[in-house]
Amino acid sequence: SSSMEPPKIHRLEESVVNRIAAGEVIQRPVSAVKEVIENSLDASSTSINVIIKDGGLKLIQVSDDGHGIRYEDLSILCERHTTSKLSVYEDLQSIKSMGFRGEALASMTYVAHVTVTTITAGQLHGYRVSYRDGVMENEPKACAAVKGTQIQIENLFYNMMARRKTLHNSSDDYAKIVDLICRFAVHHINVSFSCRKHGAARADVHTVSTSSRIDAIKSIYGASVSRDLMEVTASENDSSSLIFNMHGYISNSNYIAKKMTMVLFINDRLVECSALKRAIEVVYTATLPKAAKPFVYMSIILPPEHVDVNVHPTKREVSLLNQEKIVETIQTTVDSKLRCSNSTRAFVTQQ
Ligand code: ADP
Ligand code: MG
Repeated sequence: SSSMEPPKIHRLEESVVNRIAAGEVIQRPVSAVKEVIENSLDASSTSINVIIKDGGLKLIQVSDDGHGIRYEDLSILCERHTTSKLSVYEDLQSIKSMGFRGEALASMTYVAHVTVTTITAGQLHGYRVSYRDGVMENEPKACAAVKGTQIQIENLFYNMMARRKTLHNSSDDYAKIVDLICRFAVHHINVSFSCRKHGAARADVHTVSTSSRIDAIKSIYGASVSRDLMEVTASENDSSSLIFNMHGYISNSNYIAKKMTMVLFINDRLVECSALKRAIEVVYTATLPKAAKPFVYMSIILPPEHVDVNVHPTKREVSLLNQEKIVETIQTTVDSKLRCSNSTRAFVTQQ
C-alpha cells in the first residue's frame, strides 16, 4: 500500500549543501574570527586588529598588514576550495600554513555578508569587493587602502534563524573572541594584536610585538599570572629523528584560579588536546591541591607528517602519532617540575 512506498530521493540544491557545510565550519562568531586571524597570520602580518559589534553577529572586522590579495584572484577568492596554500593532497603532510582547504572565506559568504578590502605591495590603490554565496556581488572597486587586507563579516547567520536565536541568547561570544585573541597573542609574540567593541575607545586586548614570552603573558593576562610561572621543556628523539619538542610555562603553587587555562599550540596551530589537558590537571591536583587549576602555555613541535590536521571541520582537534607517549612524557616533566619547586619552597620556609 501507499504507506510502504519509500520517499523519493532527490539531489539537494548546491546552495543548500553549501549553507549546511558552512554551518559546520563556522559554528559561532569566534570560529569565524579564528579563521580570519589565521588567514592574516598566513599572510605574514605583523599587526592584526579586530573590531566586534553585537558579539560578532552584526560585524566582525579584521584588519591586517599582510601581503594582500592579488586583483586577479578576487573573482575566485570566496569560491569553495580556492586556496593559495595547497596544491596536491600530499602537501597536507608538510603544510606550514594554518589554512589549506580554501573553505573558510567561502563558508562565511554562505552565512554572512563578506566585504574584502585589500592592497598588494607597490600598488597605488587597493580594491574593495563584496561577496555572497561564494561569488562577487559586483566588480572590485578601486579604493584607498593601507598595507594588507581588511575582512568585514556582517550579519552572521542572517539566513540561519535557529543559530541566530540561540546565539542571541548567549552573551559570552565577545568574551570568547577576546579569549581567542589572547591565546594567539601569547604564541605569536612578534605580532601585535588588538580587539575592541565597535565604537569603544579602549581595546580589551592590546599587545605590542616583543621578544619575551613572559612579557607577552604579562601584558595579556597580567602580572598576577606572569610572576607565578615556571619554564618547562621536554623533548624526545628516536634514533636521531625527532619525536617531539615541547617548550612552555606552567604556574607554580602561588597561582590560584577558578579554572584551568591551557593555551596549546602544536606546530604553531592553536589546538585542543583533552588528553594532555587532563594529564596535567591530574598532576596539579595530586601535587599542588591548593593550586589545582593551573595556567599552562605549551608549544609542541612534531614532525609535520606526524600530525593529522584534517580530522575536525574547525581544525580544533588534531590527531598525533605517538600521542600517548608524548602526553606521558610531558606529564612526567610537569610532575617533577612541581615536586622540585614545592620542595624548594618547603626548604626555604623551613629556614
Ligand atoms: P585557506 O586559508 O584554507 O587557503 P580561505 O578561504 O581561508 O582558505 O582563504 C582563501 C585564500 O584567500 C587564501 O589561500 C589566501 O590566498 C587568501 N587570503 C585570505 N585571507 C587573506 C589575508 N588576510 N591576506 C592575504 N590573503 C588572504
Ligand atoms: Mg584560511
